[in-house]
Amino acid sequence: MRRILRRHPIPHDLWHGVTRQIAALRGLDAVQMAHLRELTTWFLHSKSINGAQGLEVTPPMRVAVATQACLLILNLGIDYFDNWVEVILYPGAFRVTHEHMDEIGLVHSETDDLTGESWSRGPVILSWDDVERDSHHPEPGRNVVVHEFAHKLDSLNGATNGMPPLHGGMSRTTWAEDLSSAYEALCRQVAAGESTAIDAYAATSPAEFFAVSSEYYFTAPEILQDCCPGVHRQLALFYGRAA
Ligand SMILES: [Zn+2]
Repeated sequence: MRRILRRHPIPHDLWHGVTRQIAALRGLDAVQMAHLRELTTWFLHSKSINGAQGLEVTPPMRVAVATQACLLILNLGIDYFDNWVEVILYPGAFRVTHEHMDEIGLVHSETDDLTGESWSRGPVILSWDDVERDSHHPEPGRNVVVHEFAHKLDSLNGATNGMPPLHGGMSRTTWAEDLSSAYEALCRQVAAGESTAIDAYAATSPAEFFAVSSEYYFTAPEILQDCCPGVHRQLALFYGRAA
C-alpha cells in the first residue's frame, strides 16, 4: 500500500477539484478525507475503470467513481473489495436482457434500462450520467455508486442477500432482526399502496433493501434514522462513519 501511495499519487488539483464537488463527501473531516484519498489511490491502481459504447473515461471521472466507492470501505478496509477488478462505465442508462427459467422450465427474458448493475464476482457497471448527477445534484437517498458497491460488499460472502460479512463486535442476529423487521414493514406499506419514507424499490428484496438503505445512510442519514432507526444503527456499526 505504501509503495502504491508513493508511486501513484493522485495529483493535488485533481483530487481537490473532484472531491470538493461531491455531495456525499461533505461532512468528512480532514483525517477521514486523507484516509479516503489513500483508499482511492489504491482503488485506481488495483481496479480498472473502462468506458463502454465509446465513452472516454477521464481522470476526474475515475476519481469520482473510485472515491465514492471507497467511501463504503473507509472503515472496513480494502479486503472488502476483494474478488472483482473491473468497473464499466456506460455513457447513460444501459439496456440489459436477463433470462430466467420459471418453475415449469419456460425461459423468460426481461429487458430493462438500468443505471447500475453489480455482478457477483464480476464487474460493477454504472451509467456515467447517473454517477455525475448523483455526485453533484443528488436527490436524498440516491447514489448509484454507493448502491452498486453495497451489493459488492453484500456478495463478498457468497450470497447477495442483505447480509454482508459483518466485522468483529457485530451480531448477525441483531443485524438480521433490525433489517428484516424494517424490510417487512416496508413491504407491507408497499403492498397496501401507502407512501414510503424511503424509495419503495427497497422492498424488491433484502439485497435491494440493504443497497438502498446504504444510499440513504451516506446521502440522507436523517431520513433513514427517522424511518428505520434500527437499520441506521446497524449501518453505523458496519460502515463506522458518524453519519
Ligand atoms: Zn440493486
